[in-house]
Amino acid sequence: LGGSISRAIQQMSNATIIDEKVLNECLNEITRALLQSDVQFKLVRDMQTNIKKIVNLDDLAAGHNKRKIIQQAIFNELCKMLDPGKPSFTLKKGKTSVVMFVGLQGSGKTTTCTKYAYYHQKKGWKPALVCADTFRAGAFDQLKQNATKAKIPFYGSYTESDPVKIAVEGVERFKKESCDLIIVDTSGRHKQEAALFEEMRQVSEATKPDLVIFVMDSSIGQAAFDQAQAFKQSVAVGAVIVTKMDGHAKGGGALSAVAATKSPVIFIGTGEHMDEFEVFDVKPFVSRLLGMGDWSGFMDKIHEVVPMDQQPELLQKLSEGNFTLRIMYEQFQNILKMGPIGQVFSMLPGFSAELMPKGREKESQAKIKRYMTMMDSMTDEELDSSNPKLMNESRMMRIARGSGRQLREVQDMLEEYKRLAKIWSKMKGLKIPKKGDMSAL
Ligand code: GDP
Ligand code: MG
Repeated sequence: LGGSISRAIQQMSNATIIDEKVLNECLNEITRALLQSDVQFKLVRDMQTNIKKIVNLDDLAAGHNKRKIIQQAIFNELCKMLDPGKPSFTLKKGKTSVVMFVGLQGSGKTTTCTKYAYYHQKKGWKPALVCADTFRAGAFDQLKQNATKAKIPFYGSYTESDPVKIAVEGVERFKKESCDLIIVDTSGRHKQEAALFEEMRQVSEATKPDLVIFVMDSSIGQAAFDQAQAFKQSVAVGAVIVTKMDGHAKGGGALSAVAATKSPVIFIGTGEHMDEFEVFDVKPFVSRLLGMGDWSGFMDKIHEVVPMDQQPELLQKLSEGNFTLRIMYEQFQNILKMGPIGQVFSMLPGFSAELMPKGREKESQAKIKRYMTMMDSMTDEELDSSNPKLMNESRMMRIARGSGRQLREVQDMLEEYKRLAKIWSKMKGLKIPKKGDMSAL
């Protein structure tokens, strides 16, 4: 997808005269590309119509930055399509909320339930998990395992076959234990589809969830709209989570899910592990959808704010995809030195979601400083190695002692490193655009 959109824009920007014909050709090509990325036909057509309304050919002809205008229009339009116009229901810490997860089997519900619980637990909530999937053999074991690993209370049964009964019992129990986030995991498959939706309706009626979250696998393709709509018709879906965004799918189905459920995407799943879970951020998502990579905005910013003489080196390192602790250290230095433009790094999905949450810059800075103190106690070998096995327990202990920090904190810092290294590795082989060519879609 990315390729053909870039090509379309490239062709257009190479054309000397931007007239309606060229704009149409460009839009047609993008239409094809978005369809390939699983964006629903109707949505693509709407976008096309809107773009034509927004982009004023006279403006384009008058020699304004043509490419920028069209790019921006497409980008904005897609962002708008991901905004249902109302926020999802916001839960309140300390006040009991019941959240029900729905979605087809294999979409990632059980995994995502735990991620969602774990995410909130880290923020001081008291979550609990209820397994109302009595259909799939082993469903309860899976939830139990996940929950135990995350130290989250859970409820379920090996023998009871009525999902409604278990759901109600679980919710009741955790209400008594004053949990403030009671999560109900449900089944995703039935012998007959109608039976599944009827079951969802019954579980929902019996547990009266404050929020129903529709979980969707990013790779389901054009089926997204119908699937989301089917669930919306049986239960009051109020939010969407898109999973497996670490795979190849660009996630165009998310646009369909938003359109079908009139609900926002709130998180994305980026791996099988508990912490591979990110707050949904529209702009990087749209960048990815357009094949800009999550990096294009980031690269733009690099050119804006990283001193010219340091740019080639940084970009070189990015393209090698080899993220060492030393590079992390240098990037931390940049963040601290540049103060507010630490926002550069907040363009990176990994940095934004965890390391530098919006509105908490002070805390983030303190954390970065703490990490750097620990890294000051590392040897050159440790800083320059990209072998994750090098950092064994005795080295971690030495670093903790050397920096006057807890072992736990050193481990945290290394976790952060691993997370960033994973993101960084995706940039491997990145073509480094020349300055002035940064905004290429
Ligand atoms: P459920 O049937 O809807 O409950 O789906 P599960 O939670 O059992 O997930 C199905 C499979 O998808 C499991 O192997 C999960 O590990 C995997 N999975 C779930 N979310 C993600 C994700 O974000 N990324 C990847 N790579 N795998 C995921
Ligand atoms: Mg499940």
